[in-house]
Amino acid sequence: MSTDLFCEIVSGERPATIVDSDEVSVSFLDTRPVFKGHVLVVPRAHAETLSDLTGVGPFFERVQRMARAVEQGLEAGGTFVAMNNRVSQSVAHLHVHVVPRVKKDGLRGFFWPRTTYASAEEAASYAERIAKALG
Ligand SMILES: [Zn+2]
Repeated sequence: MSTDLFCEIVSGERPATIVDSDEVSVSFLDTRPVFKGHVLVVPRAHAETLSDLTGVGPFFERVQRMARAVEQGLEAGGTFVAMNNRVSQSVAHLHVHVVPRVKKDGLRGFFWPRTTYASAEEAASYAERIAKALG
């Protein structure tokens, strides 16, 4: 059994602000978002990298759905969707970043300044807005 941070969130051992969860994936807010509403989508079954992932199609259908919801729910201009494999991968459990973007938001290239939520309530309000857009 692998026991990384994200396996613990998937199993419910570790608290997280969950946005969406089903048999394929679990999506939750990054605690140190690039922009507020930054979601991580992880496969429920442990896989370290994209090469290790089985069920690529169903997983990326969840990523696509989440990217739509982040854009609609947060009224963002668009999204940045990305995955690090091994290099710059902070947790050894595959995770796709879905980051809301607006024009002139200051994000350039791959420099990722991070922010924080003022409170758990503020984080929950972002999660709710995105979850509502998932329908
Ligand atoms: Zn894991």
